[in-house]
Amino acid sequence: VLPRSELAEVQRRYPERAGFATIELPAFGRLGFHAGGEVDVAYAGRDGATIMAKLFAELGVTAEDVVVNTFGYHLATVAHVFDEGLRELGACVVPAGPGNSAVQLELVKRLRPTVWLGFPSFLWHVLSQAPDTSVSIRLAIVGGEFAPGVRRALHDRFDIDSRDFYGVSILGPAAFECTEKEGMHVVDSMLVEILDAQSREPVPPGDVGEMVLTPLAHDYLVPRVGTGDLSRWVDDPCRCGDPRPRIAGVLGRVGEGSKVRGVFVYPRDVRAVRRALPAEGDLSLVLSREENTTRDVLTLRVLVEEDEATPALDEAIRTAFLEECHVRLDDVQFVDEIDGGVLVDHRAWEVPTQ
Ligand SMILES: [Zn+2]
Repeated sequence: VLPRSELAEVQRRYPERAGFATIELPAFGRLGFHAGGEVDVAYAGRDGATIMAKLFAELGVTAEDVVVNTFGYHLATVAHVFDEGLRELGACVVPAGPGNSAVQLELVKRLRPTVWLGFPSFLWHVLSQAPDTSVSIRLAIVGGEFAPGVRRALHDRFDIDSRDFYGVSILGPAAFECTEKEGMHVVDSMLVEILDAQSREPVPPGDVGEMVLTPLAHDYLVPRVGTGDLSRWVDDPCRCGDPRPRIAGVLGRVGEGSKVRGVFVYPRDVRAVRRALPAEGDLSLVLSREENTTRDVLTLRVLVEEDEATPALDEAIRTAFLEECHVRLDDVQFVDEIDGGVLVDHRAWEVPTQ
């Protein structure tokens, strides 16, 4: 397994083919370059647009759609290949790129797009400046950000359905959400393994491990890249009828999980509790230890507007937390500021001497 963090070094050592290219670099037609020193060509192979066209079709885009692409067109190849895939599908693309929400809102009104491609929080930010809730966008394709609360709010307020996909910018797409939205089906163009971080053996269904990706159909044949992203296989057949295996989405990063009262809690599980909050709410789980004992104390700090901090919300949060993290909260604190990440571990690891 090649850790993602070491790819740039391998590329530097074999510059003519950036490590793994099976064709000369200029044959890609487009070369991207990332700030970390990675040459970015994987999506840009000869079959990149076809792979993306297939992915967008699986995500519900049709030839009739007008698609706003808010991924960045500078230096990286990914937005361009998304663009080409959408064109291959017959859709019309608005190459909006990120930022400038006032212009984005204006173009949504004037060009009447039906699909939005980008971060859901940005779409929410743009649309929340609109005077009314009637918009032409029916579908948001929201790779790259885990935001179930925002997705639900987009649906409830603007009637916009959203579908997620998982990929690595230098390797290509790996998995996508079907209409059932219970996990993500693995695409045909990527071999996905989920391995135990220590033993490097495949994990059994249900267990969490690191996703290791091998793109199968590119001109850039980098084998077994360790993504550092954690997931697990979803065991039961999907109600949509698609027999392809499903991953549970990105559950966190390697080394991020914290064991609490015998249960591993990952940032993704904590973030999922946001579904119990209003759209603009935020939260942070703080793990501490009762003084002179080994008992873990779980405190959820919750940022909401003052008038929303009700006992009913407290109760809803505790219920959602138990469902997502499989362990009980000790305390819910409503705060007006959140510092630190979604999962903050303050426990001292020394075992008390008495
Ligand atoms: Zn399905």
